[in-house]
Amino acid sequence: MDPMVNVPSGRGPGVKISEQGLFEVDHCSRCGFCLPVCPTYRETGLEVQSPRGRVQLIRSAARGELAPEAIFEHLYHCLDCRACETVCPSGVHPGQRVVEARAALEPSSPIPWYKRLVLRWVLPSHNRQEFLFLFLKLYVASGLQRLARSGVGQRLVPGPLRRMEDMLPKLPAKPLRQRIKEVTPAEGERRARVGFFLGCVMNILYADASAATLRVMTRNGCEVVTPRVQRCCGAPHQDMGDWEGLRDLARHNIEVFERAQVDYIVADCAACSGMNKEYAEILAGDPDWAERARAHAAKTRDITELLAQLPLKRPFIPLERKVTYHEPCHLRHAQGVASQPRQVLEAIPGLQLVELRESDWCCGSAGVYNITHPERSQGLLQRKLDHIAATGADTVVTGNPGCLLQLQQGLRGAPTRVMHITELLDEAYRAEEAASPGASGKAQG
Ligand code: SF4
Ligand code: SF4
Repeated sequence: MDPMVNVPSGRGPGVKISEQGLFEVDHCSRCGFCLPVCPTYRETGLEVQSPRGRVQLIRSAARGELAPEAIFEHLYHCLDCRACETVCPSGVHPGQRVVEARAALEPSSPIPWYKRLVLRWVLPSHNRQEFLFLFLKLYVASGLQRLARSGVGQRLVPGPLRRMEDMLPKLPAKPLRQRIKEVTPAEGERRARVGFFLGCVMNILYADASAATLRVMTRNGCEVVTPRVQRCCGAPHQDMGDWEGLRDLARHNIEVFERAQVDYIVADCAACSGMNKEYAEILAGDPDWAERARAHAAKTRDITELLAQLPLKRPFIPLERKVTYHEPCHLRHAQGVASQPRQVLEAIPGLQLVELRESDWCCGSAGVYNITHPERSQGLLQRKLDHIAATGADTVVTGNPGCLLQLQQGLRGAPTRVMHITELLDEAYRAEEAASPGASGKAQG
């Protein structure tokens, strides 16, 4: 039976997608190479839940052969993990085409008020996010969190809120932006002037990890500029079909980092570095911004790319740990960055790096997928946890806050530590400092 038969058809003007999008969906050869790497297809076996099926749905909707409402829900089953794009021999980008089609469908499916509130009010302002952080601190300090996590709380708190609460990690004392100066000088000779792109979740929930990223950069001779007025990269907007909001944020951030006059724009959040690189494509059709967006994207690096490129100073005190590495989808598949994080880890003496089976397989976090599709997300998480357990590693490192949240939630109470990759490197540098105060000059290049 053709698994597409349950999708209602309709004749209409067709969903509007870009020329590139049309070109790609027309050039899918239906070879099926993408099927084995797609988590949603592997789990369901359904063609509509595969990259090939999604491409065909978008193609039919673009031609007016399917009503937009017939494909809307199917598109939101996609994790946007981009694993299909790494293997497609025809250069089709099913993940990108899905997020583009979600945006095209937006006018025919109004964004609910709560999404609008988050996308248009909370995310564009670090000030507002930091204000809301105070409520989170109060929530934890007042004992409400303990209550919410108790048996009674579990029964009273509605499902999506309970899932969000369950993800909440131990909060830092303050958001990173409030702890640092706009310009942090390099240690020793300056090797580069770097603009630090603060991810929203990194700044608020993983401020300590981002503080480690900052120390690692300065330790490696980077003068770091962290513009206070920067804003969210727009990845959540792309994910939820709000491209108008995404383009506004992209223009703002481009201008801010132009003013900072930096050699590189660096993020320690894979979704943010990936999104900043995609500004070139997102503003390609805007004659006033296309060139500026290309220049911004060309300067953007994930933190591991920067460290590998510099190259980083090797710590000299061994760090006796057995470590495994989980690859964030938006680093491995959206940016094609695979060797650099491993180079960073291999530079730490004493560290035993054990390869994780299916390390590039989505952990189920995927933006808000763990809230909107909890069962499937938990299935993916369990698969990841089983592979982590099989490595026997005492530490799992990654480079994206969504993955950190998901893995920390999954490993709560377990002896395995979950860390950002820069936290581990920072730990190695600190061990060096402790062993020999003022040792930064002794680090090997
Ligand atoms: S998206 Fe690419 S890999 Fe998948 S069926 Fe089409 S051409 Fe083949
Ligand atoms: S982006 Fe991920 S979930 Fe979506 S079609 Fe591609 S492989 Fe499947």
